[in-house]
This record gives sequence, structure tokens and C-alpha cells, in this order.
Amino acid sequence: MSKQFEVVVIGGGPGGYIAAIRAAQLGFSTACIDEWKNRDGGPAPGGTCTNVGCIPSKALLQSSEHFEQAGHQFEMHGIEVKGLGLDLAKMLGRKDSVVRQNNDGILYLFKKNKIAFFHGRGSFAGRSDAGIEVRVAGAAEETLVARHVIVATGSSARPLPGTAFDEKRILSNEGGLAIAEVPKRLGVIGAGVIGLELGSVWRRLGAEVTILEALPTFLGAVDEQLAKEAAKLFARQGLKISLGVTIDRAGVEKKGRSEEVRVGYTDSAGAVQTLTVDRLIVSIGRVPNTTGLAPEAIGLTLDERGFVRVDDECRTNVPNVWAVGDVVRGPMLAHKAEEEGVAVAERIAGQHGHVNFNTIPWVIYTSPEIAWVGQTEQQLKAAGRAYRSGTFPFAANGRARALGDTSGMVKFLADAATDEILGVHILGPMASELIAEAVVAMEFRASSEDIARICHAHPSLAEATKEAALAVDKRTLNF
Ligand SMILES: Cc1cc2nc3c(=O)[nH]c(=O)nc-3n(C[C@H](O)[C@H](O)[C@H](O)COP(=O)(O)OP(=O)(O)OC[C@H]3O[C@@H](n4cnc5c(N)ncnc54)[C@H](O)[C@@H]3O)c2cc1C
Repeated sequence: MSKQFEVVVIGGGPGGYIAAIRAAQLGFSTACIDEWKNRDGGPAPGGTCTNVGCIPSKALLQSSEHFEQAGHQFEMHGIEVKGLGLDLAKMLGRKDSVVRQNNDGILYLFKKNKIAFFHGRGSFAGRSDAGIEVRVAGAAEETLVARHVIVATGSSARPLPGTAFDEKRILSNEGGLAIAEVPKRLGVIGAGVIGLELGSVWRRLGAEVTILEALPTFLGAVDEQLAKEAAKLFARQGLKISLGVTIDRAGVEKKGRSEEVRVGYTDSAGAVQTLTVDRLIVSIGRVPNTTGLAPEAIGLTLDERGFVRVDDECRTNVPNVWAVGDVVRGPMLAHKAEEEGVAVAERIAGQHGHVNFNTIPWVIYTSPEIAWVGQTEQQLKAAGRAYRSGTFPFAANGRARALGDTSGMVKFLADAATDEILGVHILGPMASELIAEAVVAMEFRASSEDIARICHAHPSLAEATKEAALAVDKRTLNF
């Protein structure tokens, strides 16, 4: 006997579970299918983000930051720490319990919103007059029939060509968040968000970290001025980053009774090099999850890279089948997936859900953090747009001095004629939180003068945002 629903969501990551909640709020009978298993084989909804992405990485970034501060920064506050030690098993256990709290929270939200949850793999089985058929293969086999299906199956780490992840020596994000002892030498391939965050965690805990990046530019998507500053700060912290390299081969080799990983590469000068490390994290991008989804059963079109092809409103080529999040085009960010999930549920309800891609914030949770929204200076130059810019360093901000964390700056870019804010870029403490003000401002199409005229609490890091807005008009008050 098949079970009928108005909306079936395949995938319980941030795109899927949020879409399911919004659909249920709008009064649809809703089901969500997710196959992620916890260590005991039970359901662990939340997807990559909750299980092996945003949440565990931020838990470890926080713990490792405390460790680094206790070892190196408490002293300047007059706090003496003797006998500082690391209990890595406890740190990893705390990370796991943070993940578990989030899994449980989502299961609770499913119950609260009367969403039927199915633990297993969902695949398309066909279409009939009754609706779209989705088969669930899990502890029990079920067939669901839906009026609308939302595909939110997410993405997985891309391996190096010819070198599979073994999650012991050659690690994806999954293994990179669960190394049982701090490696003496850690290699990271890819100096993107994930590589920098995981590299930072293990460097703070004592590993010697070398990051190899194929692109010739460091953080090419980040405003150049901030990327250059960040590169200097990361080098000072001890992260060794080589740009413009070509990876020739990587593999695990025996070393006595142990093993090590050798990476053969050609550096930017054309010299052949070998990096020998105890573990290697490969973070060179992610591939969409469509294996096992059986898109052919309903004639669902994928693009040449395997993403589900959608229009601007997340409609696929099959009527009443939608797709959101990492499995479709656009930035692979949890909040982008969530916004798309909400927008699709609202469109199903005949409303006008909308995602503004111009105001999606980006964050890299290194220390200092990097966060931005809108366009970079290099993008404005390339587009020939006339703009004015203003920057304000955290070194001149009273709260940052009190925190003892004065690196970085806030930078505003505004239209030369109208003063509309075109981009805001922050390198500094709590940039991930500070960027929210800029997102709100850009959503309301504010000018830099609007921000400059708003009262900001003193002393606060947010005053640096106001001062950077004042700097657009060359009238900072504290610098
Ligand atoms: C280390 C790391 C750190 C990150 N940090 C951040 C961050 O700080 N901020 C941020 O915005 N983003 C971050 N991301 C990216 C973020 O995790 C993704 O953009 C986000 O998880 C995408 O959400 P999604 O719902 O599209 O897919 P996913 O989170 O991948 O969820 C998809 C779910 O669908 C399930 N599934 C797949 N196929 C099927 C099927 N056929 N049947 C049933 N279930 C299926 C999967 O098991 C999974 O549970 C990070 C990623 C990584 C790897």
C-alpha cells in the first residue's frame, strides 16, 4: 500500500528539512526521507551541514581556538596557564554531542510540525495520475506518492582523480573532522573554505600544516585587499600555503610499521616536489548526490556535471518536481539551501518565494574570520562600475583592542553616484556576526550614508562597520 502526501522531500539536510517544515507550516501533508545514519545505525537528519560540515567544523574551530588562546593569548591578559593539556578524545566527543543535539532537534521539529519522517534512501519509481512515486529503501520498504517532490540530496566530497578516500590517511571532510590523534604533519589539498577551516583546526592543535592550491590566486572570490591581508596573517600563524601547484599523484606508502602519504606535485615555478605527511585532507570541491535517486524513472534532467538542472525558481524539467541546495547550481552554502527550500514550499502554495542571490553572505570561519556580501572591488573594476570605497581597521576600534583581537578591517564599496552599498567585506573578529548588518542594509538597498548615520553601541565591533561606511565619504571619526 502506498502512502499519499502532498509534498515529499528527498534529503533531510538544511535544504530538505527546512523545505519540509515550511511546507508543513503552509498546511501540506509532508514527508521527508533521509538516509544518513548515526554510529548506532539510527537516523541522523541534518545532512552534510549537521553531520560532517558546518556544525562539527564550528565546534572544533571553537575548541581549538580556546586551546590556542589558553596557550598563547591568555598570557597578555595576565592569566597564567600551567600544565596546559589536550584531551583530543574529549574534544571530539563534545563535537559529536553537538552534532547529536542538532540531529535530535530536527527529529523533534519533524514531530512538532507533523512531518512523516522516513529513514532510508529515496528513489524515483515513476509517475502516474495519482502523482509521483518515490520508493524508500530502509529498515522498511515503502512507496510514497506525492503531488510535489523536492529533491534536496546535497553533495559529497570530490576525491582526487585516481585516489579514493580511505578516511584513515586520505581524508574527506568526514575523516578530517575525526582524526583520533593530532597528526605531526598534515597536508591539505585545496585552500578554499573547507581546507582553510580544517587546516586551522589541526594547526591550532599542534600539526604542521601545508596547504597546496591549484589556483594561482589566494581566495580569488574574496576582495583582493582582504585576501592579501588574510594570506599574511595565516602565514604568520604558521599555515604554509603554496599556490599554483599541479598535483601529479598522491598515495599511501609504508614507512616501517606505519604509513605516510606522499603527494607528488609541480610547484608554480615548474619544479617537481614531494610533500610527505601523516594525513592528507582533500578539499577540492564537491559533487552532487544523485546516485541511487533514479532520475531516469521520471525523466529528470541532470546537467553535464551531474547537478539537477533547475530554472531560477528551482523548477526541474518534470512538472511538480523541484530541487534545492547543493544538488543544484549556485553556491554550496547551508543558508542558500534553506532559502531555496522555503521559497519552493511557498511557490507550491502559490506564493511568491524569492531568493536574492546578490545578498547571500559568505563566511570563512578562520581566525580572523572573513565574511562578505555583494561585490568585490575586482568585480566592480571588471564590470566598469564607478564606485567609492571606505575601510576601517579593527586596530582603531576600542572593543577590538579590549578583546586583544585587532587584526583586519571592514571595507565598504558604494556606488559613486547613488551611494548604494554594492559590497561589504570584513576580515576580523566575529566577522560572521557583523556581516548580518550589511546583508540587511543591502536587502533594503541602503546607502553607505544610511549606515554612517545609524547609532551603533559603544564599545562594539559593529562600530567598525559604521566607521567604514563613514570612510566612504572620507570622514571617519576614530581613524
Ligand atoms: C566541512 C564543511 C564545512 C561547511 N561549513 C559550512 C558553513 O559554515 N556554512 C555554510 O553555509 N555551509 C557550510 N558547508 C556547506 C553546507 O554543508 C552545504 O552547503 C549544505 O549542507 C547543503 O545542504 P543540502 O540540504 O543541499 O545538502 P546536504 O546537507 O548534503 O543534505 C543532503 C541529505 O540528503 C541525503 N540524501 C542524499 N541522497 C538521498 C537519497 N536518495 N535518499 C535519501 N536521502 C538522501 C544525504 O544523506 C543528506 O543527509 C560546509 C560543508 C563542509 C563539507
